[in-house]
Amino acid sequence: MNKTISAKEFRKGLAIGLAVMIILAGLEAVEHLIPKNAGAKGDYTPGTYTASSQGFGGPVDVTVTVGNKGGITDVAIAGAAETPDVGGAAIPALQAQILEKQSAEIDAVSGATFTSNAVMEAAAAALAQASGMEVEEAPKAAEGDLFIPGTYTASSKGFGGDVEVTVTVSEDMIESVDIMGDHETENIGSFAVDMLGDRIIAAQSPNIDALTGATVTSNAILRAVQSAFTQAGADLSKFPQAQEEEAAEKTEETLETDIVIVGAGGAGMTAAIKATNAGKNVILLEKMPYAGGNTTKATGGMNAAETHYQEEQGIEDSVEQFVEDTMNGGHNINDRDLVTIMAEKSAEGIDWLDSIGAPLPKVSFSGGATNARIHAPEDGSGVGAFLVTSFLKQIDELGINVMYDTKATELIMEDGAVTGVKAEGKKSIYTIKAKAVILTTGGFGNNEEMIVQYRPDLKGTVTTSAPGIMGDGIVMAQAAGADLVDIDQIQLHPTVEQGTSMLITESVRGDGAILVNQEGKRFINELLPRDVVSAGELEQTGSYAYIIFDQRLREGLKATEKYVSTGITVQGDTIEELAEQIGVDPATLKETIETWNSYVAAGEDPDFERTTGMEADLSVAPYYAIKIAPGIHHTMGGIKINTEAQVINTEGEPIPGLFAAGEVTGGVHGGNRIGGNAVADIVVFGSVAAESAVAYCE
Ligand code: ADP
Repeated sequence: MNKTISAKEFRKGLAIGLAVMIILAGLEAVEHLIPKNAGAKGDYTPGTYTASSQGFGGPVDVTVTVGNKGGITDVAIAGAAETPDVGGAAIPALQAQILEKQSAEIDAVSGATFTSNAVMEAAAAALAQASGMEVEEAPKAAEGDLFIPGTYTASSKGFGGDVEVTVTVSEDMIESVDIMGDHETENIGSFAVDMLGDRIIAAQSPNIDALTGATVTSNAILRAVQSAFTQAGADLSKFPQAQEEEAAEKTEETLETDIVIVGAGGAGMTAAIKATNAGKNVILLEKMPYAGGNTTKATGGMNAAETHYQEEQGIEDSVEQFVEDTMNGGHNINDRDLVTIMAEKSAEGIDWLDSIGAPLPKVSFSGGATNARIHAPEDGSGVGAFLVTSFLKQIDELGINVMYDTKATELIMEDGAVTGVKAEGKKSIYTIKAKAVILTTGGFGNNEEMIVQYRPDLKGTVTTSAPGIMGDGIVMAQAAGADLVDIDQIQLHPTVEQGTSMLITESVRGDGAILVNQEGKRFINELLPRDVVSAGELEQTGSYAYIIFDQRLREGLKATEKYVSTGITVQGDTIEELAEQIGVDPATLKETIETWNSYVAAGEDPDFERTTGMEADLSVAPYYAIKIAPGIHHTMGGIKINTEAQVINTEGEPIPGLFAAGEVTGGVHGGNRIGGNAVADIVVFGSVAAESAVAYCE
């Protein structure tokens, strides 16, 4: 007997019934639905069975062959899109376990949780078929109906934990979709959580596209919704494939407003709120389906000097010192006038954030600052996500028109002045006439062509930039005659996991992690400036390194949980075991860590003169490693602006009607941006650009 269901058919939802329910309802459900003895040899019906589930990078297909005696004789796993070094490498181990245990109830391979879970789900579904579980057992809607009316709940694994959905359906309608996913990366995954329910209702189908940039969360939501629909007796193959398609013929629309702001990141949202509060009509364009850009990813805080928080906490600081620190950090090539404005207006920025319900009261030291100056949210959450959430709330309350999925394509010029923008949405091409335009499109970290144009040496370097960060504003401004400054100054972050482009926060090293090369040896003071550590890594075998930490560090630093749950960490119960996992000589790694621990005890690092992040050694098992290399983090150069955020042309004159703020501009950070200044930049210059544009309108 051969009951092969091809993976493709399966994904399309043609294999309805219990097998689907098991896949979709997740592992918890698998335990309940598989008969206790299903794993025993001889219990399966001979044949070949295939099922699929969602892994890290895409579908993972598992094909199980059951021999004549009813035992599993072969397991084939295909997961082409899994991260080769992580999920991909785990596949042979998972295969071997299924064969050995004759069951889908196997152990996840550490460091490859997503892929492991997907393999277990798919294998369980394939074995459910092999156990002769009848497809007919699944509930079925009445003839001619889509659903058995009711409310159904299901869950699936997202980025940070389970995503739970509750759907309410009538005979022929999806009435409501509620999604809970508290652990999803704020403002990336959480946008998917907010938006997909509405889209499913609008499309009356669970077959919609995942949100760009939030694929893991989107897929988890869609899996859970499909699972709930299966419980509701739906035939998943009956739903249309409802991609949000670009209209073939787009309509032409003309809009008019006072100020168009291009890009809904931190700078754009700040400018939009300020300009609206100053009484102007604003249109905020955002090419992605969600706001936030790179701002969402900012973790540290906002540098500000002479703030009321510093005063209340007895911290002495000055605007002058802030300027000097920023200039020194930027190798003194920064535009001192811009830096001065940023420092002078930083305390005002903090007060403004207070006033909109986004206080940053936690003040601490950060790299490159003489005094405690970096301001962060009270609860320790990432500053970027916190601000984006607060800004969006304001935008909502003020009723600001944010046009998502709408990309500005060019600036409209009349008599040498900028008088609007052309933009393209999914259904329309817009001509937006305005008195002033503010460009806040962020940097160009995600545009490899542009990176290579200015920095050929960075070809092939991964980036931590958000998907929309393509340098559009720089290109549009240049076409309008704008000058660029420091455009080749690109900041590399030394600890970026290359498969996922996930940034391993500096705090991991700050809390005591070390870097070792493939030979198992340290090679640098891990806490030197980002550019120096990055350069050090590039000199090692293969141009990468491993960041090594222990269980104590993991337990003390919340951020590490995400690394573990994403599957980018490798772990070992002993140092030797860890070494074997990463192909490093165990004796060497053991010696490196023991030597390091002795330096921590002595408070001195004679090898590389590290002086910070030495409060605790690495001695609590299990031990962890993440393979990292430098990644493009911030494009520090960009459009030339003056202290009023006016865009300056190649003749050194302001371009009338055109303003810019944030990562799209150059000059503030010089040759090296210090932590905390990106947020200061967007808040201060987002405000300055709004004030200047408002004044220009009048
Ligand atoms: P900043 O930190 O300077 O505010 P961000 O990276 O946070 O910059 O945000 C920039 C935003 O601009 C992103 O949300 C990005 O998707 C958006 N964006 C980039 N190019 C365009 C464009 N051509 N049209 C509309 N939005 C854009």
